[in-house]
Amino acid sequence: MTGNRLNAMLAGMSSAEYQLLVGTQEGDPLCRAFTEKRGMHGGFTGSEIKPAQWQAAWNGLMAEEAQPGKRVAYIHIPFCRRRCLYCGFFQNYSDAELERAYIECLVRELQMAADTRYLSGAKLNAVFIGGGTPSSLSSLNAAKLLKALRAYLPLTNDYELTLEARINDLIPEKMEIWLAHGVNRVSIGVQSFNTRVRRAVGRIDATEAILNKLQLLSAYGQAAVIVDLMYGLPYQTMAVWLKDLQFLTRAAIDGWDLYQLNVYETSALKAAIAAGRLPAAATVAGQAEMFAAAEAILADHCFPRISVCHWSKSNRERNMYNTLTKSSLAVLPFGAGGGGRIGGVSLSLERKVERYMNMIRQGDKPIAAMRQPHSGYSLQKAVMGQIKQGYIDLGSLAGCHGSGIWELEPLLKIWERRGLLQTGARVAKLTVAGQFWYMNIARSILECLNALDIHKSATKVE
Ligand code: SF4
Repeated sequence: MTGNRLNAMLAGMSSAEYQLLVGTQEGDPLCRAFTEKRGMHGGFTGSEIKPAQWQAAWNGLMAEEAQPGKRVAYIHIPFCRRRCLYCGFFQNYSDAELERAYIECLVRELQMAADTRYLSGAKLNAVFIGGGTPSSLSSLNAAKLLKALRAYLPLTNDYELTLEARINDLIPEKMEIWLAHGVNRVSIGVQSFNTRVRRAVGRIDATEAILNKLQLLSAYGQAAVIVDLMYGLPYQTMAVWLKDLQFLTRAAIDGWDLYQLNVYETSALKAAIAAGRLPAAATVAGQAEMFAAAEAILADHCFPRISVCHWSKSNRERNMYNTLTKSSLAVLPFGAGGGGRIGGVSLSLERKVERYMNMIRQGDKPIAAMRQPHSGYSLQKAVMGQIKQGYIDLGSLAGCHGSGIWELEPLLKIWERRGLLQTGARVAKLTVAGQFWYMNIARSILECLNALDIHKSATKVE
Protein backbone atom coordinates (compact mmCIF):
# COMPACT_ATOMS: atom_id res chain seq x y z
CA MET A 1 0.00 0.00 0.00
CA THR A 2 3.14 2.19 0.05
CA GLY A 3 2.50 5.56 -1.50
CA ASN A 4 -1.30 5.44 -1.56
CA ARG A 5 -1.69 8.52 0.60
CA LEU A 6 1.04 10.33 -1.33
CA ASN A 7 -0.54 9.44 -4.68
CA ALA A 8 -3.92 10.64 -3.44
CA MET A 9 -2.35 13.91 -2.30
CA LEU A 10 -0.61 14.44 -5.66
CA ALA A 11 -3.79 13.57 -7.56
CA GLY A 12 -5.66 16.27 -5.65
CA MET A 13 -3.23 19.04 -6.60
CA SER A 14 -3.68 21.72 -9.24
CA SER A 15 -1.21 21.58 -12.11
CA ALA A 16 0.73 24.58 -10.68
CA GLU A 17 0.93 23.01 -7.20
CA TYR A 18 2.03 19.70 -8.71
CA GLN A 19 4.77 21.33 -10.78
CA LEU A 20 6.07 23.23 -7.78
CA LEU A 21 6.22 20.10 -5.63
CA VAL A 22 7.11 17.35 -8.09
CA GLY A 23 8.57 19.37 -10.96
CA THR A 24 8.02 19.39 -14.67
CA GLN A 25 8.61 16.75 -17.32
CA GLU A 26 9.62 19.18 -20.06
CA GLY A 27 13.15 19.55 -21.36
CA ASP A 28 16.35 18.47 -19.75
CA PRO A 29 16.27 18.07 -15.97
CA LEU A 30 19.38 20.16 -15.34
CA CYS A 31 17.84 23.37 -16.65
CA ARG A 32 14.09 22.73 -16.33
CA ALA A 33 13.32 20.17 -13.61
CA PHE A 34 11.14 22.65 -11.70
CA THR A 35 9.29 25.77 -12.69
CA GLU A 36 11.19 27.86 -10.15
CA LYS A 37 14.08 27.65 -7.71
CA ARG A 38 12.88 27.51 -4.11
CA GLY A 39 14.57 28.52 -0.87
CA MET A 40 14.41 26.62 2.39
CA HIS A 41 11.28 27.64 4.25
CA GLY A 42 8.31 25.71 5.44
CA GLY A 43 10.02 23.04 7.50
CA PHE A 44 8.69 21.79 10.80
CA THR A 45 8.27 24.51 13.39
CA GLY A 46 7.04 24.05 16.93
CA SER A 47 4.56 26.31 18.69
CA GLU A 48 5.66 29.79 19.75
CA ILE A 49 6.72 30.37 23.33
CA LYS A 50 5.14 33.54 24.71
CA PRO A 51 7.55 36.50 25.20
CA ALA A 52 6.82 36.62 28.93
CA GLN A 53 8.28 33.11 29.22
CA TRP A 54 11.43 33.60 27.12
CA GLN A 55 13.89 34.45 29.89
CA ALA A 56 12.67 31.70 32.20
CA ALA A 57 12.71 29.19 29.34
CA TRP A 58 16.28 30.16 28.34
CA ASN A 59 17.51 30.13 31.94
CA GLY A 60 15.88 26.74 32.47
CA LEU A 61 17.62 25.28 29.40
CA MET A 62 21.00 26.65 30.46
CA ALA A 63 20.51 25.41 34.03
CA GLU A 64 20.29 21.81 32.81
CA GLU A 65 23.29 19.59 32.42
CA ALA A 66 24.25 19.18 28.76
CA GLN A 67 23.58 15.78 27.16
CA PRO A 68 26.69 13.85 26.10
CA GLY A 69 27.56 14.62 22.48
CA LYS A 70 28.62 17.43 20.23
CA ARG A 71 27.50 21.05 20.24
CA VAL A 72 28.47 24.31 18.57
CA ALA A 73 28.04 28.07 18.97
CA TYR A 74 27.29 30.87 16.52
CA ILE A 75 28.40 34.47 17.15
CA HIS A 76 26.98 37.26 14.98
CA ILE A 77 28.74 40.49 14.00
CA PRO A 78 26.10 42.77 12.41
CA PHE A 79 28.41 45.33 10.78
CA CYS A 80 29.81 45.80 7.27
CA ARG A 81 32.03 48.56 5.96
CA ARG A 82 30.44 48.37 2.52
CA ARG A 83 27.14 47.04 1.32
CA CYS A 84 27.35 44.46 -1.47
CA LEU A 85 24.73 45.03 -4.16
CA TYR A 86 23.29 41.52 -4.01
CA CYS A 87 23.10 41.34 -0.21
CA GLY A 88 19.91 40.24 1.51
CA PHE A 89 21.41 40.21 5.02
CA PHE A 90 22.90 43.67 5.50
CA GLN A 91 22.21 45.13 8.97
CA ASN A 92 24.44 48.12 9.83
CA TYR A 93 27.35 50.11 8.48
CA SER A 94 30.48 49.90 10.65
CA ASP A 95 30.81 52.69 13.17
CA ALA A 96 33.75 52.80 15.60
CA GLU A 97 31.77 53.86 18.68
CA LEU A 98 28.85 51.50 18.01
CA GLU A 99 31.28 48.64 17.40
CA ARG A 100 33.08 49.30 20.71
CA ALA A 101 29.79 49.32 22.65
CA TYR A 102 28.51 46.25 20.81
CA ILE A 103 31.62 44.17 21.52
CA GLU A 104 31.36 45.13 25.18
CA CYS A 105 27.78 43.76 25.24
CA LEU A 106 28.71 40.66 23.24
CA VAL A 107 31.48 39.89 25.72
CA ARG A 108 28.90 40.26 28.52
CA GLU A 109 26.53 37.88 26.73
CA LEU A 110 29.29 35.26 26.49
CA GLN A 111 30.13 35.77 30.16
CA MET A 112 26.46 35.27 31.19
CA ALA A 113 26.45 31.90 29.38
CA ALA A 114 29.73 30.82 30.98
CA ASP A 115 28.18 30.96 34.44
CA THR A 116 25.53 28.35 33.53
CA ARG A 117 25.49 24.65 34.37
CA TYR A 118 25.00 23.77 30.70
CA LEU A 119 28.24 25.34 29.52
CA SER A 120 30.33 24.60 32.55
CA GLY A 121 29.76 20.90 31.92
CA ALA A 122 30.09 20.70 28.15
CA LYS A 123 32.65 21.59 25.55
CA LEU A 124 31.91 23.09 22.15
CA ASN A 125 33.28 21.36 19.07
CA ALA A 126 32.99 24.34 16.75
CA VAL A 127 32.29 28.06 16.88
CA PHE A 128 31.40 30.16 13.85
CA ILE A 129 31.78 33.95 13.90
CA GLY A 130 29.56 35.13 11.06
CA GLY A 131 27.91 38.30 9.87
CA GLY A 132 27.87 40.88 8.52
CA THR A 133 31.61 41.11 8.25
CA PRO A 134 33.45 39.84 11.36
CA SER A 135 36.80 40.70 9.75
CA SER A 136 35.76 44.36 9.69
CA LEU A 137 36.18 44.54 13.49
CA SER A 138 39.17 46.65 14.55
CA SER A 139 42.14 44.64 15.80
CA LEU A 140 41.41 45.83 19.32
CA ASN A 141 37.76 44.72 19.24
CA ALA A 142 38.56 41.44 17.52
CA ALA A 143 41.11 40.69 20.26
CA LYS A 144 38.57 41.54 23.00
CA LEU A 145 35.95 39.26 21.47
CA LEU A 146 38.31 36.35 20.84
CA LYS A 147 39.82 36.57 24.32
CA ALA A 148 36.33 36.49 25.84
CA LEU A 149 35.33 33.60 23.59
CA ARG A 150 38.33 31.55 24.75
CA ALA A 151 37.71 32.51 28.38
CA TYR A 152 33.95 31.86 28.52
CA LEU A 153 33.22 29.14 25.94
CA PRO A 154 34.85 25.79 26.75
CA LEU A 155 36.25 24.27 23.55
CA THR A 156 37.27 20.70 22.74
CA ASN A 157 40.96 19.98 22.00
CA ASP A 158 40.19 19.62 18.30
CA TYR A 159 37.87 22.63 18.11
CA GLU A 160 37.14 24.51 14.90
CA LEU A 161 36.90 28.31 15.19
CA THR A 162 35.82 30.00 11.98
CA LEU A 163 35.84 33.72 11.26
CA GLU A 164 34.11 35.11 8.16
CA ALA A 165 36.22 37.64 6.30
CA ARG A 166 36.43 39.91 3.29
CA ILE A 167 39.59 39.89 1.18
CA ASN A 168 40.10 43.57 1.93
CA ASP A 169 40.58 42.81 5.64
CA LEU A 170 43.34 40.24 5.10
CA ILE A 171 46.13 42.48 6.38
CA PRO A 172 48.92 41.21 8.68
CA GLU A 173 47.83 43.29 11.68
CA LYS A 174 44.34 41.73 11.69
CA MET A 175 45.25 38.21 10.62
CA GLU A 176 47.89 37.92 13.35
CA ILE A 177 45.34 38.89 16.02
CA TRP A 178 42.83 36.30 14.75
CA LEU A 179 45.42 33.52 14.61
CA ALA A 180 47.03 34.41 17.94
CA HIS A 181 43.61 34.08 19.60
CA GLY A 182 42.72 30.68 18.25
CA VAL A 183 40.99 31.23 14.90
CA ASN A 184 41.86 28.15 12.86
CA ARG A 185 39.53 28.56 9.88
CA VAL A 186 38.88 31.72 7.84
CA SER A 187 35.95 31.74 5.41
CA ILE A 188 36.33 34.44 2.78
CA GLY A 189 33.65 35.86 0.50
CA VAL A 190 35.58 36.15 -2.77
CA GLN A 191 32.47 35.62 -4.97
CA SER A 192 34.52 35.93 -8.20
CA PHE A 193 38.21 36.34 -8.99
CA ASN A 194 37.28 38.60 -11.91
CA THR A 195 37.91 42.27 -11.07
CA ARG A 196 35.06 43.65 -13.21
CA VAL A 197 32.53 41.15 -11.85
CA ARG A 198 33.54 41.90 -8.25
CA ARG A 199 33.59 45.65 -8.56
CA ALA A 200 30.18 45.67 -10.25
CA VAL A 201 28.64 44.27 -7.05
CA GLY A 202 30.60 46.34 -4.53
CA ARG A 203 33.68 44.25 -3.90
CA ILE A 204 37.00 46.05 -3.95
CA ASP A 205 40.13 44.03 -4.67
CA ALA A 206 41.45 43.01 -8.08
CA THR A 207 42.44 39.47 -9.11
CA GLU A 208 46.16 39.66 -8.24
CA ALA A 209 45.44 41.24 -4.84
CA ILE A 210 43.03 38.39 -4.01
CA LEU A 211 45.56 35.71 -4.91
CA ASN A 212 48.31 37.50 -2.95
CA LYS A 213 46.19 37.93 0.17
CA LEU A 214 45.04 34.31 0.13
CA GLN A 215 48.71 33.33 -0.18
CA LEU A 216 49.62 35.59 2.74
CA LEU A 217 46.98 34.06 5.03
CA SER A 218 47.79 30.53 3.96
CA ALA A 219 51.52 31.09 4.59
CA TYR A 220 50.93 31.46 8.33
CA GLY A 221 50.04 27.75 8.27
CA GLN A 222 47.61 28.14 11.17
CA ALA A 223 44.16 28.27 9.60
CA ALA A 224 42.17 26.54 6.91
CA VAL A 225 41.54 29.10 4.16
CA ILE A 226 38.08 28.70 2.65
CA VAL A 227 36.62 30.68 -0.25
CA ASP A 228 33.01 31.34 -1.25
CA LEU A 229 32.34 31.80 -4.96
CA MET A 230 29.05 32.78 -6.58
CA TYR A 231 27.84 31.89 -10.06
CA GLY A 232 25.42 33.90 -12.18
CA LEU A 233 26.65 37.43 -11.34
CA PRO A 234 26.38 40.25 -13.92
CA TYR A 235 29.34 40.12 -16.39
CA GLN A 236 30.14 36.59 -15.18
CA THR A 237 29.79 34.77 -18.49
CA MET A 238 30.54 31.06 -18.78
CA ALA A 239 34.07 31.97 -19.93
CA VAL A 240 34.59 34.11 -16.81
CA TRP A 241 33.19 31.32 -14.62
CA LEU A 242 35.55 28.74 -16.11
CA LYS A 243 38.43 31.13 -15.33
CA ASP A 244 37.08 31.50 -11.77
CA LEU A 245 37.26 27.72 -11.40
CA GLN A 246 40.83 27.72 -12.71
CA PHE A 247 41.78 30.28 -10.07
CA LEU A 248 40.20 28.05 -7.42
CA THR A 249 42.44 25.19 -8.38
CA ARG A 250 45.54 27.45 -8.34
CA ALA A 251 44.88 29.56 -5.25
CA ALA A 252 46.45 28.93 -1.84
CA ILE A 253 43.23 27.65 -0.24
CA ASP A 254 41.95 24.54 1.53
CA GLY A 255 38.36 24.40 0.34
CA TRP A 256 35.46 26.29 -1.17
CA ASP A 257 31.70 26.70 -1.38
CA LEU A 258 29.90 27.44 -4.64
CA TYR A 259 26.68 29.45 -4.31
CA GLN A 260 24.20 30.45 -6.96
CA LEU A 261 23.30 34.12 -7.04
CA ASN A 262 19.85 35.05 -5.76
CA VAL A 263 18.65 38.42 -7.01
CA TYR A 264 16.46 39.51 -4.10
CA GLU A 265 13.44 41.66 -5.00
CA THR A 266 14.50 44.48 -2.68
CA SER A 267 18.23 44.33 -3.45
CA ALA A 268 20.26 47.16 -4.95
CA LEU A 269 21.36 44.64 -7.58
CA LYS A 270 17.78 44.16 -8.77
CA ALA A 271 17.38 47.94 -9.04
CA ALA A 272 20.70 48.36 -10.87
CA ILE A 273 19.76 45.70 -13.43
CA ALA A 274 16.25 47.13 -13.86
CA ALA A 275 17.72 50.62 -14.46
CA GLY A 276 20.18 49.26 -17.04
CA ARG A 277 23.24 50.15 -14.95
CA LEU A 278 24.28 46.48 -14.95
CA PRO A 279 23.63 43.64 -17.39
CA ALA A 280 21.18 40.93 -16.32
CA ALA A 281 22.32 38.14 -14.04
CA ALA A 282 22.36 34.59 -15.44
CA THR A 283 19.02 32.85 -15.84
CA VAL A 284 18.29 29.72 -13.80
CA ALA A 285 19.14 27.61 -16.87
CA GLY A 286 22.41 29.53 -17.24
CA GLN A 287 23.23 28.97 -13.57
CA ALA A 288 22.45 25.27 -13.96
CA GLU A 289 24.97 25.02 -16.80
CA MET A 290 27.58 26.84 -14.69
CA PHE A 291 27.00 24.45 -11.80
CA ALA A 292 27.29 21.40 -14.08
CA ALA A 293 30.52 22.77 -15.59
CA ALA A 294 31.97 23.29 -12.11
CA GLU A 295 30.95 19.82 -10.99
CA ALA A 296 32.62 18.22 -14.02
CA ILE A 297 35.85 20.22 -13.77
CA LEU A 298 36.24 19.71 -10.03
CA ALA A 299 35.49 15.99 -10.38
CA ASP A 300 38.24 15.80 -13.03
CA HIS A 301 40.65 17.21 -10.47
CA CYS A 302 39.44 14.62 -7.91
CA PHE A 303 38.88 17.24 -5.19
CA PRO A 304 37.03 15.58 -2.26
CA ARG A 305 33.37 16.58 -2.11
CA ILE A 306 32.12 17.54 1.36
CA SER A 307 28.57 18.37 0.26
CA VAL A 308 26.66 19.20 -2.93
CA CYS A 309 28.14 22.71 -2.88
CA HIS A 310 31.34 22.35 -0.85
CA TRP A 311 34.71 20.91 -1.85
CA SER A 312 37.99 20.51 0.03
CA LYS A 313 41.45 20.75 -1.42
CA SER A 314 43.48 19.79 1.64
CA ASN A 315 42.83 17.88 4.84
CA ARG A 316 43.09 21.14 6.78
CA GLU A 317 39.44 21.77 5.80
CA ARG A 318 37.08 19.87 8.14
CA ASN A 319 33.92 21.98 7.74
CA MET A 320 32.87 20.88 11.22
CA TYR A 321 30.45 23.68 12.07
CA ASN A 322 28.50 23.42 8.83
CA THR A 323 28.37 19.65 9.01
CA LEU A 324 27.35 19.53 12.67
CA THR A 325 24.57 22.09 12.21
CA LYS A 326 22.96 19.73 9.68
CA SER A 327 22.06 17.47 12.61
CA SER A 328 19.72 18.28 15.47
CA LEU A 329 22.43 19.05 18.03
CA ALA A 330 22.59 22.29 20.03
CA VAL A 331 23.69 25.57 18.42
CA LEU A 332 24.16 28.28 21.06
CA PRO A 333 23.51 31.73 19.57
CA PHE A 334 25.17 35.01 20.56
CA GLY A 335 25.00 38.51 19.08
CA ALA A 336 22.37 40.75 17.45
CA GLY A 337 20.62 38.73 14.75
CA GLY A 338 22.08 35.36 15.77
CA GLY A 339 19.94 32.24 15.85
CA GLY A 340 20.22 28.71 17.23
CA ARG A 341 18.58 25.99 19.30
CA ILE A 342 19.05 24.02 22.47
CA GLY A 343 17.07 21.07 23.73
CA GLY A 344 15.11 21.26 20.47
CA VAL A 345 13.90 24.77 21.42
CA SER A 346 14.79 27.21 18.62
CA LEU A 347 15.47 30.86 19.25
CA SER A 348 16.46 33.96 17.34
CA LEU A 349 18.07 36.99 18.89
CA GLU A 350 17.14 40.66 18.61
CA ARG A 351 18.44 42.14 15.31
CA LYS A 352 18.31 45.84 16.23
CA VAL A 353 21.69 46.60 17.78
CA GLU A 354 20.46 49.27 20.22
CA ARG A 355 17.68 47.01 21.52
CA TYR A 356 20.06 44.08 21.73
CA MET A 357 22.49 46.15 23.82
CA ASN A 358 19.74 47.41 26.12
CA MET A 359 18.59 43.86 26.83
CA ILE A 360 22.13 42.73 27.61
CA ARG A 361 22.61 45.70 29.93
CA GLN A 362 19.47 44.61 31.80
CA GLY A 363 21.00 41.15 32.21
CA ASP A 364 18.56 39.46 29.79
CA LYS A 365 19.28 37.03 26.98
CA PRO A 366 18.32 39.22 23.97
CA ILE A 367 15.64 36.89 22.59
CA ALA A 368 13.34 38.01 19.75
CA ALA A 369 11.50 34.71 19.13
CA MET A 370 11.41 31.28 20.69
CA ARG A 371 9.67 28.06 19.63
CA GLN A 372 9.04 24.72 21.27
CA PRO A 373 10.60 21.60 19.74
CA HIS A 374 8.61 19.97 16.95
CA SER A 375 8.35 16.19 16.89
CA GLY A 376 9.51 16.18 13.27
CA TYR A 377 12.55 18.32 13.83
CA SER A 378 15.18 15.57 13.99
CA LEU A 379 13.66 13.87 10.93
CA GLN A 380 13.81 17.19 9.07
CA LYS A 381 17.49 17.61 9.96
CA ALA A 382 18.24 14.01 8.94
CA VAL A 383 16.53 14.49 5.56
CA MET A 384 18.31 17.81 4.97
CA GLY A 385 21.65 16.34 6.05
CA GLN A 386 21.35 13.49 3.55
CA ILE A 387 20.26 15.67 0.66
CA LYS A 388 23.07 18.16 1.33
CA GLN A 389 25.43 15.17 1.12
CA GLY A 390 23.88 14.24 -2.23
CA TYR A 391 21.73 11.20 -1.40
CA ILE A 392 18.45 9.98 0.09
CA ASP A 393 18.46 6.76 2.11
CA LEU A 394 14.87 5.92 3.03
CA GLY A 395 16.02 2.72 4.81
CA SER A 396 18.23 4.53 7.32
CA LEU A 397 15.62 7.27 7.81
CA ALA A 398 12.97 4.62 8.48
CA GLY A 399 15.29 2.91 10.96
CA CYS A 400 15.61 6.06 13.07
CA HIS A 401 12.31 7.83 12.44
CA GLY A 402 9.70 5.20 11.65
CA SER A 403 8.59 3.28 8.58
CA GLY A 404 6.14 6.00 7.49
CA ILE A 405 8.98 7.57 5.52
CA TRP A 406 8.58 4.78 2.92
CA GLU A 407 5.40 6.53 1.79
CA LEU A 408 7.71 8.90 -0.11
CA GLU A 409 9.06 6.15 -2.37
CA PRO A 410 6.75 6.93 -5.34
CA LEU A 411 8.00 10.54 -5.33
CA LEU A 412 11.59 9.33 -5.51
CA LYS A 413 10.64 7.05 -8.40
CA ILE A 414 9.19 10.02 -10.30
CA TRP A 415 12.39 12.00 -9.75
CA GLU A 416 14.44 9.01 -10.84
CA ARG A 417 12.48 8.79 -14.13
CA ARG A 418 13.04 12.51 -14.63
CA GLY A 419 16.80 12.30 -14.17
CA LEU A 420 17.12 13.93 -10.75
CA LEU A 421 17.97 10.75 -8.82
CA GLN A 422 19.83 7.58 -9.58
CA THR A 423 18.55 4.73 -7.46
CA GLY A 424 21.06 2.07 -6.47
CA ALA A 425 20.67 -1.01 -4.31
CA ARG A 426 20.65 0.97 -1.06
CA VAL A 427 20.36 4.71 -1.58
CA ALA A 428 19.11 7.18 -4.18
CA LYS A 429 21.92 9.48 -5.27
CA LEU A 430 21.29 12.96 -6.60
CA THR A 431 22.43 13.29 -10.21
CA VAL A 432 24.17 16.52 -11.22
CA ALA A 433 20.71 17.90 -12.09
CA GLY A 434 19.41 16.72 -8.70
CA GLN A 435 22.33 18.45 -6.98
CA PHE A 436 21.53 21.73 -8.72
CA TRP A 437 17.86 21.42 -7.65
CA TYR A 438 18.63 19.97 -4.22
CA MET A 439 16.81 22.70 -2.34
CA ASN A 440 13.59 22.08 -4.32
CA ILE A 441 13.90 18.35 -3.64
CA ALA A 442 14.47 18.90 0.09
CA ARG A 443 11.61 21.34 0.38
CA SER A 444 9.20 19.08 -1.49
CA ILE A 445 10.09 16.15 0.75
CA LEU A 446 9.55 18.22 3.89
CA GLU A 447 6.21 19.47 2.57
CA CYS A 448 5.10 15.88 1.93
CA LEU A 449 6.25 14.77 5.39
CA ASN A 450 4.31 17.64 6.87
CA ALA A 451 1.17 17.14 4.79
CA LEU A 452 1.08 13.40 5.47
CA ASP A 453 2.05 13.89 9.11
CA ILE A 454 5.05 11.56 8.81
CA HIS A 455 7.32 12.79 11.52
CA LYS A 456 7.61 10.23 14.21
CA SER A 457 10.83 11.15 15.98
CA ALA A 458 12.88 8.52 17.72
CA THR A 459 15.99 10.62 18.27
CA LYS A 460 16.61 12.85 21.25
CA VAL A 461 17.59 16.39 20.28
CA GLU A 462 20.07 18.27 22.37
S1 SF4 B 1 29.76 41.64 3.47
FE1 SF4 B 1 28.15 40.07 3.54
S2 SF4 B 1 26.58 40.86 4.97
FE2 SF4 B 1 27.93 42.60 4.42
S3 SF4 B 1 26.90 43.60 2.72
FE3 SF4 B 1 28.35 42.14 1.79
S4 SF4 B 1 27.18 40.22 1.54
FE4 SF4 B 1 26.01 41.55 2.94
